[in-house]
Formats: sequence, structure tokens, C-alpha cells
Amino acid sequence: MNRPIGIFGGTFDPIHFGHLRLAEEMLELANLQQIRFIPTGTPPHRGAPQVTAVQRSAMVGLAIADQPKFVLDEREVRRAHMCYTVDTLRELRQELGDAQPLCLLMGGDAFLQLHTWYQWEELFELAHIVVGCRPGFAIEERIHTAPMALQLQHQHRRCTAEALSHRAAGGIAVLAIPKLEISATDVRARVAEQRTIRYLLPKAVADYIYQHHLYLTC
Ligand code: ATP
Repeated sequence: MNRPIGIFGGTFDPIHFGHLRLAEEMLELANLQQIRFIPTGTPPHRGAPQVTAVQRSAMVGLAIADQPKFVLDEREVRRAHMCYTVDTLRELRQELGDAQPLCLLMGGDAFLQLHTWYQWEELFELAHIVVGCRPGFAIEERIHTAPMALQLQHQHRRCTAEALSHRAAGGIAVLAIPKLEISATDVRARVAEQRTIRYLLPKAVADYIYQHHLYLTC
């Protein structure tokens, strides 16, 4: 059996325990051999972040240093130009070979916006999509508000976590994962307001934020 490799992209501006718990739970539930954290360079979906891509990436490195199955992949940060998830997955597929199962990890909120991603239908040719949903966040109910094209993909590609090892790509697995009420937006606002961020993210990341005077304005 070829255990899947997880791909977890995000702005990680900054990385926090919500991201880390999502990854840790998925590692276990989907029996992943490894998760690659890939901080975005210039994100296509949002305005320019307050800190540099190199700083966001450094914080990811600090956050995952003690989990050997979590690996920092800086390919998007090193690129000078904007890049899309589909391009990164094409690159990974070339490097890792056609047989290796790859799982693109994301939260339920991100999945419901998948149709807005560049060449989103191509993603299924390259990887499985593994969606972490909090218990009670019924994707079956929410999916009806999404465009028909995404509803159809969801309907036809649904699979179990076990099935992810049997094919290299093309499935959608929805896993129940308790969601921590933590967001990067809230962390940034707290720093700007000089409120505490202790226990929302790893101490090493909080120390980095203060040492580099990040997020001083909202
Ligand atoms: P922001 O608050 O700036 O929008 P964010 O905390 O949502 O940022 P991103 O880097 O944009 O972080 O998210 C990367 C991925 O992590 C997304 O797929 C998102 O659904 C997921 N995610 C973010 N926060 C949590 C959380 N608390 N629990 C589980 N998943 C999360």
C-alpha cells in the first residue's frame, strides 16, 4: 500500500493551532505518511499580507519543527511570480511520480469556494481533496448553495479515507475534525491591540512575531 502524502497550502499569516490540529488529525484519519506545508507566495485570493512570504514561511518552520512527519516546502515562497495551487500540484506530481497518492488538505469553508480557484477541475486529475469539517458542519447541506459544477464533483467523487491509498488522485474525502475557534485574522488583530496570543499558536511563533515586530497594525 502506498500511503498518501498530504499537501497543505495556506497563507499561514501566521500559522496557528487551528492549522496544526487540522493537519495532525488528517495525518491520523487519512493515514498519511507525511504532510507538506506549502506557504503561498503572492496569494491569488487576497490582498498583500502584512509580513513577507519569507517571514510567514519561517513561522511555519518553527511551528512544525518537532513533528517529523510535517515538512516545510518553500517552493511557492521562492518563486518570484504569483502561482496557483494547480501549478504546484503539477510540479509535485512530476517529482513524486504518477502512482503516489496525493491529498490536498483544506477546511470545509475553503472547499465550498473551490470553484473560484484557477483551473479547479484540473485539481482532481492531480490529487485527492481531503476536507476537514467540524462535526455538525454538514457539507451535504451546505454544498447545495455551491454552483452545480462543484455539487456534481462532490457527488461523483466522494470516497472514504481508506480509499485514498488505492488511487493516486480524483477522490473527495470529508473527515470530521473538531475545529478550534482560532483564525489568523484574530491573531493579527490581537497583536495590533496588544492583547494576548498565548495558547493560540506555538510559543516559538509568538516569540518570532514579537521579535520581528509583526502585525503591529491591523
Ligand atoms: P485568515 O484568518 O487570515 O483568513 P486562516 O486562519 O483562515 O487565515 P489560511 O492560511 O487562510 O488561515 O488557511 C489555510 C487553511 O487552513 C484553509 O483551508 C482553512 O480552511 C484552514 N483553517 C484555518 N483556520 C482553521 C481552524 N481554526 N481549524 C481548521 N482549519 C482551519
